[in-house]
Amino acid sequence: MSEAFNFNMPVNIVFRPGAAFRAAELAQGNRVLIISDPFLYKSGVAMRVGEGLGGKDVSYFSGIEPNPSCESVDEAARIAREIDADCVMGLGGGSSMDVAKIVACLISSPGSIYDYYGGGNKRLVPRHAQLICVPTTAGTGSEVTNVGVFTNKRTGKKVPMLSPYFWPDIALVDSTLTQTMPGPVTSSTGMDAFCHAIEAYWNKESQPISDMVAMRAMHLILTNIKTAFEHPSDAEARRSMSEASVLAGVAFSQTRTTGIHAISFPLTVEFGLSHGEACAITLPSFIRISGEKQAEKMQRLAAYLGYKDIDELADAVETLMREMGMRVRLHEAGVAENDIAHLAAVGLEAAIIHLSPAEMTEQSVEDLLRSIL
Ligand code: NAD
Repeated sequence: MSEAFNFNMPVNIVFRPGAAFRAAELAQGNRVLIISDPFLYKSGVAMRVGEGLGGKDVSYFSGIEPNPSCESVDEAARIAREIDADCVMGLGGGSSMDVAKIVACLISSPGSIYDYYGGGNKRLVPRHAQLICVPTTAGTGSEVTNVGVFTNKRTGKKVPMLSPYFWPDIALVDSTLTQTMPGPVTSSTGMDAFCHAIEAYWNKESQPISDMVAMRAMHLILTNIKTAFEHPSDAEARRSMSEASVLAGVAFSQTRTTGIHAISFPLTVEFGLSHGEACAITLPSFIRISGEKQAEKMQRLAAYLGYKDIDELADAVETLMREMGMRVRLHEAGVAENDIAHLAAVGLEAAIIHLSPAEMTEQSVEDLLRSIL
């Protein structure tokens, strides 16, 4: 844990079941662009949220794909500029919210996302449009971070981008929106939130405030994810998972993530795993090695969560994942022995890998990956 710390959370978090359909008083100006994905548009959710904006002039962009590409960003930005949006609302999982973050900026910053990201040398200028993020998964926590993650089709890489203008003005968290998530989305996004919390907790940059919220997030997830998975319309389990997701996001927004996320990027882009599954697949093995640098702190966490030691916690997490039908071995995702060196090399390119609770070298990362092959 770092000796000195800073806790900066500039996002106004409005957590209220049902509030997404009554957001008129939160949105500024008259022209609103709602950015969402095909499911949220076709199921009518995006329209109902738009109708709840009390007669504002609402436009929709509903073409966001998982692991959104820079091309989707530019297409959404074109519409936002065309209507000169006063407010951009990202309604969906992390993919739609991340796109909303940069689109809100591109209204006042000219050019393509490629000018600012992936080698581009322009700098975003302060955004004028209001940014509201409304999560429908639980989740990425994107609604409370200054991060956006985009897939650069030119390089074939998925890389996070940080900007002070990516902090949403408002995180509007309405857990009723998450009740339509199918089982595999509930499990993978819920375990993504667990990864955020534990990666904040064992992070070299951890600090007392993020530790506290991370611990509560992990407890909420372990006690509610199975119920949410098995009973999608259980309002209390969904509420708890949404709360956990926001808390986990608050925690890692202060510390960043670690090796789990670093290795997830090539697993998603090259092997097609969803973001949450790509993170969760290495989670038990990272827990097992976390005693290397964080033995005492991890032992305290294991006890707080009701386990004898770190290994028992790792086993319980792996069992939970199996019970929800998640893949726990890399070969189940098509990874072979001769992919290991490459995956380790790409993972090691991400600086966050060195915030992990164990020494991360070519050898140690390859060993970790082989242990779950
Ligand atoms: P997603 O936004 O990619 O959506 C995945 C699928 O779930 C889509 O098909 C979508 O239609 C569906 N879905 C979403 N909500 C639903 C609902 N309520 N009911 C039914 N289906 C629903 O999923 P995600 O896991 O939330 O987001 C992943 C993305 O977020 C990745 O690109 C990841 O890198 C990024 N991410 C960003 C941050 C951040 O801080 N910005 C943090 C973690 C992850």
